[in-house]
Amino acid sequence: MSINKQELVLALPKGRVFDDLLPLLEGTEFAIKDNPKNTRKLLLNTKSKYVRVLLIRGWDVPTYVTSGAANLGIVGKDILLEKESEEYIELLDLGIGQCRLSLAGKKNLLEGSTRMKIATKYPKSSIRFMESIGIQSEIIYLHGSQEIAPALNLSDAIIDLVDSGNTLKENGLYEIQVIREISTRLIANKAALKTKSSIVQEIKEVLS
Ligand code: AMP
Repeated sequence: MSINKQELVLALPKGRVFDDLLPLLEGTEFAIKDNPKNTRKLLLNTKSKYVRVLLIRGWDVPTYVTSGAANLGIVGKDILLEKESEEYIELLDLGIGQCRLSLAGKKNLLEGSTRMKIATKYPKSSIRFMESIGIQSEIIYLHGSQEIAPALNLSDAIIDLVDSGNTLKENGLYEIQVIREISTRLIANKAALKTKSSIVQEIKEVLS
C-alpha cells in the first residue's frame, strides 16, 4: 500500500475527536468509505480518490504532519501547546472538542501554597502556568486517570482537560482555575500548503 504524489493524507486522532469529526465529513466528497468500526486498517479511503485518512493517536499527529508523512492533521490545542517545537502551520479552529485545561484539587488548594506536586500529561503548559501564579511545581507525568492522583497522595493537584466537570466531581476534586479554553484544530505541513494548495483549500472549506 503506497501513497502517490497527487494524494493527500489527512491524519485524524482516534477516539472522541474522530467521533465528532465524522458528521462534518459525512455527505461531503471527503466522507470516509471504510467503516472504521469494522476494519483494523489505519489508512482509510475517502470518496475522493485524492484524499486518504490516517487514523493515529492525537499525540502523534503533529509528528506525522511536521515530517510530511501526513499533509494535514486534526488535533486538540492541548496537544499542540505541548508540541510547539514541531513545525506545522495551524490553519483552522474547527470549533469541536471544546473543553478547558484547568488546575484542579481540593477546595482551598491555593491558600498558602508555595510548592505543589502536579499530576498531568501536559508538563509544558503546567510549568508555564504554575510559574505564572508564582507556585513552584514538581510535575508527576501520567498518561491518564490523573483525577485519582490527589486522593492517593501521588500529587497535590492535577492539570487536565475538563468538559462537564463530572470526572472531577466524582473524584472529589474542584476546578480551581481555568488555564485556557481548548478546541480542535486543523494543521498543515508547510510544504503541502504550496504543493497541494487547492486540495488543502477544499478540505479547509469543508471543515469551516
Ligand atoms: P468531564 O468529566 O466531562 O469533565 O471530562 C473529563 C475527562 O474527559 C478527562 O479525563 C479529560 O481528560 C477528558 N476530556 C474532556 N474533554 C476532552 C476533549 N475535548 N478531548 C479529549 N479528552 C477530553
